[in-house]
Amino acid sequence: MEVSRRDFLRVSGAVATGTALGGLTGLGASLAPTLARAEELRIKNARTFPSICPYCSVGCATLVNTIDGKIVNIEGDPRSPHNEGTLCPKGAAIYQLHVNPNRPLKVLHRAAGATEWEVWDLERAMARVAELVKTTRDETFIERLDNGRRVNMTPAIFSLGGATLDNEWNHIQQKLMRGLGIVAIENQARI
Ligand code: SF4
Repeated sequence: MEVSRRDFLRVSGAVATGTALGGLTGLGASLAPTLARAEELRIKNARTFPSICPYCSVGCATLVNTIDGKIVNIEGDPRSPHNEGTLCPKGAAIYQLHVNPNRPLKVLHRAAGATEWEVWDLERAMARVAELVKTTRDETFIERLDNGRRVNMTPAIFSLGGATLDNEWNHIQQKLMRGLGIVAIENQARI
């Protein structure tokens, strides 16, 4: 199609309340070839793997593109019947879950009253968590209420899950927590 200078200026003015893309498509310009080309370049030579966004129970389908074993792009899978290629802002930022220089890769421990974080190895941290859970549970465990009803629980430990805990993790987490007698269990990963 041809866009005259007058038309272009008119559309550019409209851009103040819209976007250049919206303006051009408003004139009937098809951006499909350009977008298709950009799409092709972005994932050229990439291998594509279907996956699922872990952030909530909607479970939107994603396509993970990799080059030489490294993730280069993640986007919604247009074949999915429920998200149809779209992702919410959290899901759209999922690439940063994997590729993120700000992501802590070591266990950090700050002792009570301390002002500085200390790097711990994972074994030491896990042993410390287990020790504190056992001590707290032993000290606060309630077998029966005053009326004699058996409850076998501790009100002193709270389990808080994060957005990236998936169904399988939560299944095991629930089993562990309930087995310990922990009843205060919460997780973000739900709608
Ligand atoms: S967080 Fe967003 S993109 Fe991810 S599954 Fe939920 S709705 Fe879908």
